[in-house]
Amino acid sequence: MARNRENSRALYDRALSVMPAGVNSSVRATQPYPTFVRSGDGAHVIDHDGNRYLDYVMGYGPLLLGHDMPESVAAAVQRAASEGPMYGAPTEVEVDLAEFVVRHVPSVEMIRFVNSGTEATVSAVRLARGHTGRNKIVVMQGGYHGAQESTLVEGDAEHPRPSTSGIPQSFAEHTLPVPFNDEEALREVFERHGDDIACVLTEPILGNSGIVMPEEGYHEAIRETCDEYGALYVLDEVITGFRVGGLGCAQGKFGVTPDVTTFGKIVGGGFPVGAIGGRSEIIEQFSPSGDVFQSGTFSGHPVTMAAGLATLEFCAENDVYDHVNALGERLREGLTDIVADRAPEYTVVGTDSMFKVVFGRANTGPQSDCCSAGCRQDPTCERSPDCPKTGADVADGETQRWDRLFRPFMEEQGILLPANQMESQFVSYAHTEADIEETLEAYEAFFS
Ligand SMILES: *Cc1c(COP(=O)(O)O)cnc(C)c1O
Repeated sequence: MARNRENSRALYDRALSVMPAGVNSSVRATQPYPTFVRSGDGAHVIDHDGNRYLDYVMGYGPLLLGHDMPESVAAAVQRAASEGPMYGAPTEVEVDLAEFVVRHVPSVEMIRFVNSGTEATVSAVRLARGHTGRNKIVVMQGGYHGAQESTLVEGDAEHPRPSTSGIPQSFAEHTLPVPFNDEEALREVFERHGDDIACVLTEPILGNSGIVMPEEGYHEAIRETCDEYGALYVLDEVITGFRVGGLGCAQGKFGVTPDVTTFGKIVGGGFPVGAIGGRSEIIEQFSPSGDVFQSGTFSGHPVTMAAGLATLEFCAENDVYDHVNALGERLREGLTDIVADRAPEYTVVGTDSMFKVVFGRANTGPQSDCCSAGCRQDPTCERSPDCPKTGADVADGETQRWDRLFRPFMEEQGILLPANQMESQFVSYAHTEADIEETLEAYEAFFS
């Protein structure tokens, strides 16, 4: 019997009259109408009709610990909120959180907190331009850096164009998109435009394009090329920060040292946040110590800072990363087995606590042993030519089947997934082994 979702439907009906597409962020407008959440409970959410779902959306990334704040986090949040919501003056807790990040992420000597990942990448791009006195930035095709003018650009380095209406072509001309994992394309763009490139802005893992891992040596190649041309290497760790690679972030996992790192999501413990960190001489160029203007009424908000600090301290003192990474691996291995027989053209992707099955079309047989816990983008793997490498590859897959059949099927089974196959899914500290087995059974049921 189908779940009763009448209250979600009625709320969506009301929402459509007063909010565009009924939502405040595009991805939430799922088919045929969104599940309106009333409350969270560990790894689950409960909707307005009383349905309970095992949740892999996890706020689209911030909720590493699940929906329940540990006691220490709840206490810190309540204390901060009860003392007064915010001040417009510095507070101790922002110093504490800054010190925590500086202690755990070696490339970060100084940090400025802002209110979203988008704001962090906007500020990082302005900083790179101010620091170098150059105009252009290199981004990855299929990379995502939030809803900002400089990065909502598609095409290639010679023919960049805005990827949305509302952005002038003349803005897009300063953004040079290149294919991820393509060292030659990177060198080429620097040979042509190197003296006007302020930075390379990339995610360590393309986390918003179905999860694409970097090939071995790719980040080192970016580092070397930036050094050669005097450009900054800006790593967008908004989604990977304090998730992939634990407290040292993805840059620790891959052993690379960016000049500037952007953070968001987990570092605010579930409250709105972003941050720009890096070497002191660069970060100090933000105003008022430097001449790159940067400011924000809510920046370093005491409730967010308290939640972020208590969350990261909880991670430092508990087996959070061991737990989520082990469950992530178990899930990816199980999913690889399931699709091996029944949908060998599909690819299981992800690392640490991120995972996804990308519904591809190229049929070259099941994933090999090297990728049994998620596609590694290993060029020596015989399946490599057909594994999804860009957002376009993911979009060319069976997106309709994913959005219209698979996702609603899983919802009906009581498992909540993000809107489309571009978006990563997340295991939280609240998920259990039993949850993982239940999830694998649901996938199996869809594929049988
Ligand atoms: C989510 C995300 C952003 C945007 O962050 P918002 O808080 O949604 O503005 C930027 N970069 C990456 C890599 C992200 O995953």
